[in-house]
Amino acid sequence: MLLDLLFPRTCVWCWKKWEYLCPECKKELYSHPEICPFCHQKSSDFQTCKSCAENQVLQWIIIWFAYKWVAKKLILKAKFAHKKDVISFMAKRLALLVQTNKQLKLKLENFELFVSYVPSHWRRRYYEKWYNQSMLLAKSLANELWIPMLELASKKSYTVSQLHLNRSERQKNLKWVFRVWDLSQVLNWATILLVDDVTTTGSTLSELAKTIHESRNDLNFWWAVIARNMW
Ligand SMILES: [Zn+2]
Ligand SMILES: [Zn+2]
Repeated sequence: MLLDLLFPRTCVWCWKKWEYLCPECKKELYSHPEICPFCHQKSSDFQTCKSCAENQVLQWIIIWFAYKWVAKKLILKAKFAHKKDVISFMAKRLALLVQTNKQLKLKLENFELFVSYVPSHWRRRYYEKWYNQSMLLAKSLANELWIPMLELASKKSYTVSQLHLNRSERQKNLKWVFRVWDLSQVLNWATILLVDDVTTTGSTLSELAKTIHESRNDLNFWWAVIARNMW
């Protein structure tokens, strides 16, 4: 295949001939410590701590890795080459975290769990099939868990790139950018797992959850990310 010629199958870290990550380097993937998604203090099971829960909609987070070393390489690799293989590997590991989390396991068994992602603007939608990493990841995770993936919102307008903004500027930049779709078909009291590949402050996901919450305040939001960027 042409793809194999352009991007030969090597381990992303040690360059050994292997599928994206060799067994030795897989051992170098360290789990992220359990923290509150907002203030980043230790919190068991990644639950949002009591004081942050007062003004946040997202209740829990699942983080697999710190965004550095091997994990960073792996996620970057998924953006450019052998996307399907890497995404399916990441989705499988994320599925395992969901299945071994007591709360989520219960919701899975009761058919109350759904997967969604951060949408991109309609003008970018055409490319979304190939480039919206969080959508691909959400889809793959939904398949792994045998649950539906929901489209909950679309993006109203382009936002300025988040990259060079600080935390409060980021939040302002994101205000009101999502348009919520008709949610009448979504089960009452359902739990939505919002999927993303990498998070820094989590302001995008948080804003999306808040916007949806304004029209359906019975829904519960969890947050599942592959890695957290340290700052
Ligand atoms: Zn390796
Ligand atoms: Zn907190």
